[in-house]
Amino acid sequence: MKYVIVTGGVLSGLGKGITTSSLGMLLKARGLQVTAVKIDPYLNCDAGTMNPFQHGEVFVLDDGSEVDLDLGNYERFLDANLRTDHNITTGKVYREVIQKERRGDYLGQTVQIIPHITDEIKKEIVSVGERDGLDVVLVELGGTVGDIESMPFLEAVRQLSMDVGRQNCIYIHTTLVPILGVVGEQKTKPTQHSVKELRAVGIKPDVIIARGERPLSKSIKSKISMFCDVPVEGVISAPDAISIYQVPIILEDQGLTDLIIKQFAIGSQEQNLTSWKGFLNNLDNPEGEVNIAIVGKYTHLIDSYISHVEALHHCSSETKNKVNLVWVEAEDLEKGNSTKVFEDVHGILVPGGFGERGTEGKIISAKYARENGKPFFGVCLGFQLATIEFCRNVLGLEGANSSEFDPETKYPVVDLLPEQIGVEDKGATMRLGVHEAMVQEGSKAYELYQSNRIKERHRHRFEINPEYIERIEEAGLKYTGRSLDGRRMEIAELQGHRYFVASQFHPEFKSRPLNPSRLHLGLVRAAIDYRDGKDY
Ligand code: GLN
Repeated sequence: MKYVIVTGGVLSGLGKGITTSSLGMLLKARGLQVTAVKIDPYLNCDAGTMNPFQHGEVFVLDDGSEVDLDLGNYERFLDANLRTDHNITTGKVYREVIQKERRGDYLGQTVQIIPHITDEIKKEIVSVGERDGLDVVLVELGGTVGDIESMPFLEAVRQLSMDVGRQNCIYIHTTLVPILGVVGEQKTKPTQHSVKELRAVGIKPDVIIARGERPLSKSIKSKISMFCDVPVEGVISAPDAISIYQVPIILEDQGLTDLIIKQFAIGSQEQNLTSWKGFLNNLDNPEGEVNIAIVGKYTHLIDSYISHVEALHHCSSETKNKVNLVWVEAEDLEKGNSTKVFEDVHGILVPGGFGERGTEGKIISAKYARENGKPFFGVCLGFQLATIEFCRNVLGLEGANSSEFDPETKYPVVDLLPEQIGVEDKGATMRLGVHEAMVQEGSKAYELYQSNRIKERHRHRFEINPEYIERIEEAGLKYTGRSLDGRRMEIAELQGHRYFVASQFHPEFKSRPLNPSRLHLGLVRAAIDYRDGKDY
């Protein structure tokens, strides 16, 4: 098995995740069995308890683990379903080691960062690839070289090359090559310093991927090569791209895949990027444009909604229509800002969320879409709020709410899942991951999924209160998707509306470039028809 270790220098947010994902996709397109592992050096055991403002969206895997959003990028680029062990955090590693210590596995020893923590890290990395008999495991180390928190991980990936053989490890370091405004010159000093820092912990990079506004000039590539002791073909430009999906092509064109395959001395097929290029071609040559509003409470950090943004990109390519995103802060609607923002949009998406802030603004959005016949898609909290809006304004249940926001409400039309009663721990305790649902034939969802059985990912504590379902359905909001026992509402569709659909699950997590989320696709298609004034 081979390992590609991706580290980052100079500053965070350089797009290491996209680089790792792109490289994985390229190696996979060469016929290799590839996967990716993300290391997050924070002390949380997983991303589930973090506010999206901290690290962006919390991504959910099939197995229900709540992980870093980079795993979403890996899944989208690799078109694979990953598991909880593809995200290693400091918290997870320490928890494991401390449990072993308590059990007496290290009896008689002093338990230390080296070798106990580093051994555990290596074991976790190696076991991911070994279990599935893979050819290449990509390991992305979050954070920046020099951070105190990253030290044990850097030490572990350094040792890894001794355990598995230096010829089986490639170290890629991503850095920044800024351009100074006054002189317009690409500056290599930050890269030099960052590589020096990396070498100080015993890692000599084989490849440097330089992010920056523009491609590196030939002379700058040579300069980095000389100062950082990396062959010039190992110095790769990663200039700002119009779309993240262009990055694999940019890397491929500079020979990165060839270099890795050569250095690993592994056999591979010829590169076949036809379908990927077809996907890009549709993105680059849209036949029209359509405006979709996303009404959220974390809109100042777009990464909070990254899977929705990507799902809509996938729909852009599929429908050959550029989706323009219009960000609407839910609280602004509550403050009396008019719904005028919605006049020029062709569809409204209300994503998931937690806590009361912004919920009334999202309810205003659902009401607007319902009353004005505008395509609407609500996800998770968006699904619950669409139901609340319907109960308040159509059924006349004044003050109807979710017991999450108003425990005293007279009409708790959204209520705690029965199995959540008495659950106090907040980490990994929601209804999580893939659950199967049945879809009613003849519904819009059925038309989109082309199936009466679906598997989508979940992340919630509350649900539609079964006591209100009959009344809600009688008034025209039908639950066309339900859990297999029929007890849990999964999809809602407003009768007589062009597209007013909502789901308790999160289809954005399983959207892939060549296989977009069905319900997002339904929204975009309906928005295009709405724009064109088509009948429904
Ligand atoms: N807060 C809601 C719940 O826990 C919705 C969760 C979500 O949107 N992911 O049920």
